[in-house]
Amino acid sequence: MNSLNDLVLPSGKMLVGGDWRDALSGETIPVENPANGEIFAQLAAGGAEDIDLAVKAARAAFESPGWSKMRPIDRSRLLEQVALKLEAHAEELALIDSFDNGKPKHLAMMVDVPSAVEVFRYMAGWCTKIYGKTLSVSGDGRQYHAYTLRQPVGVVGQIVPWNYPLPMAAWKVASALAAGCTVVLKPSEVASLSTLRMAELILEAGVPPGVVNVVTGYGETVGEALITHPDIDKIAFTGSTNVGKHILRSSANDLRRVSLELGGKSPTIIMPDADLEKAIPDAAMAIFFNSGQTCFAGSRLLCHESIYDTVIAGINEVAKNLPIGPGQDPATMIGPVVNKKQRDRIQSYIEIGRQEGAEVISPNVPLPEQGYYVRPTILSGVTAESRVFNEEIFGPVLAATKFSTEEEAIKLANSSCYGLGANLYCKDMKTSHRMAAALQAGTVWINTYFVVDAAMPFGGFKESGIGREVGDEGVLMYTESKSVCALLDD
Ligand code: NAP
Ligand code: MG
Repeated sequence: MNSLNDLVLPSGKMLVGGDWRDALSGETIPVENPANGEIFAQLAAGGAEDIDLAVKAARAAFESPGWSKMRPIDRSRLLEQVALKLEAHAEELALIDSFDNGKPKHLAMMVDVPSAVEVFRYMAGWCTKIYGKTLSVSGDGRQYHAYTLRQPVGVVGQIVPWNYPLPMAAWKVASALAAGCTVVLKPSEVASLSTLRMAELILEAGVPPGVVNVVTGYGETVGEALITHPDIDKIAFTGSTNVGKHILRSSANDLRRVSLELGGKSPTIIMPDADLEKAIPDAAMAIFFNSGQTCFAGSRLLCHESIYDTVIAGINEVAKNLPIGPGQDPATMIGPVVNKKQRDRIQSYIEIGRQEGAEVISPNVPLPEQGYYVRPTILSGVTAESRVFNEEIFGPVLAATKFSTEEEAIKLANSSCYGLGANLYCKDMKTSHRMAAALQAGTVWINTYFVVDAAMPFGGFKESGIGREVGDEGVLMYTESKSVCALLDD
C-alpha cells in the first residue's frame, strides 16, 4: 500500500449527527499534496450554519439516554473497539497523512498511528474509573453526608492543527468520550483527511451517531463559529499561541471552559558530562523529526561551551545523512513541510537568523525539484535576544547557543515566553533532577526525547497553554466537579 490508488479516500463530506454531508453552502476546499503540489482530494468548506447543525446533533446525543445512560463499561468497550479499528487500518491512515501532511508513512506508522490507537485504549480504562470523593465536612456540628461527583462537562468544541493530525484528534476525542462528553471536532483544513477517516471508523466501531461530529473548513469561519457558539460548554484547542489567546479572550463572554495546547520553543540542554553518542543524534532528531513541525520540538540547543563545537559538527553530520523525499518512500526521513506558506515562512526565518549574525550550517544536499522541502539547518551562535532564539519557526531549524554554568543553562532555558518541553542530557542524576525541578516546562525529558504517552499528562507552562491533555488530568479536564451535601440530622 503506497500509492493514492491503494486508498479509498474519505468522501470529503462532513460528519454531522451520523450523516455524511456536504457543506450547506456547497463550497469545497482543494487538498494539496505538499510533495508535488497536486490537488488530490476536496474537503467540504463548512460555515457557521454547519457548526450550528453539528452542535445541535452533539447536544441531542449528549442528552440522549443512549449515550448519557450508557454503562461506563459499555463506553469503555466502545473506545476499545475504536482502538482496534484504528489499529486494523494503521497503514491506510499513515498513507493518508503522508499525502495530506507530507510526513513519511513509515514514521507515521511508528509514531502517529500508535499514539492514536493507544490513547483510545488507555482512555477506555478511564470510563469506569471516574469517581468523586466522600468529604469530612465540619459544618455547624450537625451531621452531613458530603461527596463530590465528577460529571461530563457537556458538548465540547475541539480544534486541532495539521502537524500530527491523527493523534491530535484522537487525544481529544478519546479523552472527551471517556468522560461522557460529546464533541464537535474541527481539524485543520490543511490536513483533515485522516481525521475524517478516523471518524468513519469511530462510527463503524459503534459509537452512537451525534456523539462525534466533524466539521471541516477554515479557522476563521468554522473555527470562529465553533468558539463563539452559545451552546458549547468547553473548547479544547491545540494550535498556535496567537489563536489560543484569541479563543481565551472570546471565552470571557460566558466563561465557557477552555483548555489550550499551544506553541513552544523547547530547549535541548547538553551538560558537559552528557553521553554525546546519545545526545547528538537525539538533539538532531528532536528538531528534524517531522521536518521540525512538532510543538515540543527541541528547537533551541543550549550546549555547554566545552563540547559545543563537537555537538554542532555532530548534529550537522546527522543532518547530512537524513534522506529527504516524499513521504511514501520508505527511506525518507525528512518529508516536505506542509505547504508553501510554511516553507516560505521557515526560509524567511533562516534569512532572519543570518541577518542576526548566526552562522547558517546546512548540509549541501540536493532537494527534490518539486514540493515544499527545507534542508535541516543549524543557526549557530545565536544570542538570547535574537528572534530566531525566541520565536517559534516550526521547521527543521535549530537555534544554537552555548553556556558555561548550570545556572546559566536554566536561565537561558527559562528565558522563553513558552514552556512546553525540555530535553536534558546529563549523566549526573542529582544535577538532572535539580534541573528538572527548575525548568519551566510541562514535560522534562532526561536523556531521552519525544516520549509522549497516553498516561503522561501533556501541556505547557506560560504561553504554551492552559490545562493538560491525556493521563488522569486529561480526562478530568472534560469533567465538572460537583459537591453534594446532605443533612443527616432531623
Ligand atoms: P493555528 O493556525 O493556530 O491553527 C490551529 C487550528 O485552529 C486549526 O484547525 C485552524 O484552522 C484553527 N483556527 C485558526 N483560526 C481560528 C479562529 N479564529 N478560531 C478558531 N479556530 C481557528 O496553528 P497551526 O498552524 O495549524 O499549527 C501549528 C501550531 O500549533 C504551532 O504553534 C504548534 O506549536 C502548535 N501545536 C501545539 C501542540 C501542543 O500540544 N501544545 C501540538 C501541535 C501543534 P485552519 O488551519 O483550518 O485555519
Ligand atoms: Mg494537505
